[in-house]
Amino acid sequence: MSRRQDCHSVSCCSSGPWLGGIAASDFAALDRLAEKLICLDSGFTAPLREIGRVVGERIAREQNEKPVDLEAALSALIPACGLEGAVESHFLQRNAEEALLQITGCGAVLGWQVPTVHRAVCGFDAGLFEGFLCGVTGERALSVEETACLGLGHASCEFRIHRRHREIAPVEDHSMIRQS
Ligand SMILES: [Zn+2]
Repeated sequence: MSRRQDCHSVSCCSSGPWLGGIAASDFAALDRLAEKLICLDSGFTAPLREIGRVVGERIAREQNEKPVDLEAALSALIPACGLEGAVESHFLQRNAEEALLQITGCGAVLGWQVPTVHRAVCGFDAGLFEGFLCGVTGERALSVEETACLGLGHASCEFRIHRRHREIAPVEDHSMIRQS
């Protein structure tokens, strides 16, 4: 590994790919660390999901100027998030409304075996996918949940991508009542 001691700016080195302004090597280290931390303590899940979301939004911003539909966003997801070739991924189910993304081979990328900790440990990735998909589609209601995970003892991880249904909130119903 070569040191770049002269490099003080995040943008002065163009030696490798960048993801949302983060060097690919830093991004990979962050992804690995996030999984380790969540394995260690469930308290890390929510903040790391948020960090993933911000990174995903940043990647989306540098990807396109115009919003794309969900289909196009799903096609761009894995390469845009730097996972192409790093993990094996395919959509178990996919249509214009929702999708189920399966990812295998994470263990090889991580270089260690994810223990069965009885919780999903890929919150960073779920947030990353959600931030990216919301960003490139311009849809705020897209949600990504990890429904299967190595951390749950499954053989692969699965991410369910769907639109959050608008809740019927009674909060301001009185303003909606019209006298007829
Ligand atoms: Zn997982």
